[in-house]
Amino acid sequence: MSWAATVLTLYPEMFPGPLGQSLAGRALRERTWSLDTVQIRDFATDRHRSVDDTPAGGGAGMVMRADVLACAVDHVLERRPEAPMLVMTPRGKPLSQRLVRDLAAGPGVSILCGRFEGIDERLFEARPIIPVSIGDYILSGGETAAIVLLDACVRLLPGVMGAPTSGEEESFETGLLEYPHYTRPPMWEGRTIPEVLRSGDHAKIAAWRKAMAEADTRSRRPDLMERHGDAPRPSPSGARHEDEGT
Ligand code: SAM
Repeated sequence: MSWAATVLTLYPEMFPGPLGQSLAGRALRERTWSLDTVQIRDFATDRHRSVDDTPAGGGAGMVMRADVLACAVDHVLERRPEAPMLVMTPRGKPLSQRLVRDLAAGPGVSILCGRFEGIDERLFEARPIIPVSIGDYILSGGETAAIVLLDACVRLLPGVMGAPTSGEEESFETGLLEYPHYTRPPMWEGRTIPEVLRSGDHAKIAAWRKAMAEADTRSRRPDLMERHGDAPRPSPSGARHEDEGT
């Protein structure tokens, strides 16, 4: 059975969106993974099909109703009890490459997308839903966040990337940013490709890449470097250690 994603949303027409293109799109057509959407509004019970109401305690905007969302969530949990149910929210656990790998190794995911000011908190007390954030900024809805999460998972599914090892040396897999890349032409606007990359000496190239990965991580992401400090070192080839990652 292929890896299956179910997205609970007020905007099902946003899917597959960019996930219908390139690697993820081809994998979708080849049924390496599947994607279906559930329209949250179908679970509204009043004649206006309302899914939101004013915030308790006052304040701006509207809040998505726990009773309506619970019906949508229950419908999906009943059909796909094996898939973890996530909710995209800035109040969630930060999405990391480690979480992406865990999700990609499982049966798939169900993702609830918020809108407006957010979702009535009681839903998360009453249902097994894992809150996930894609970063410290505010989007207008959970759909774009769900697309980010799905894209990151789908590219790791077996057969989706051209070379099976191409996911292993990337940023965050060893706890560091990846080394910089270069390609032809060898001279561009007076700039050359670092000599070592043209040497054909694989040991030297690996050592240079490791040094560059560390230097760039130190200057751009000191937070990652600090966490990496005590972690086991990556091998000279840059290959990933099983117990590493973010
Ligand atoms: N009032 C909320 C807050 O301050 O935490 C933000 C609500 S936001 C305008 C509407 C929806 O977009 C959220 O319910 C969530 O589904 C989604 N969203 C916004 N930023 C996100 C982020 N960084 N990660 C994941 N989802 C996000």
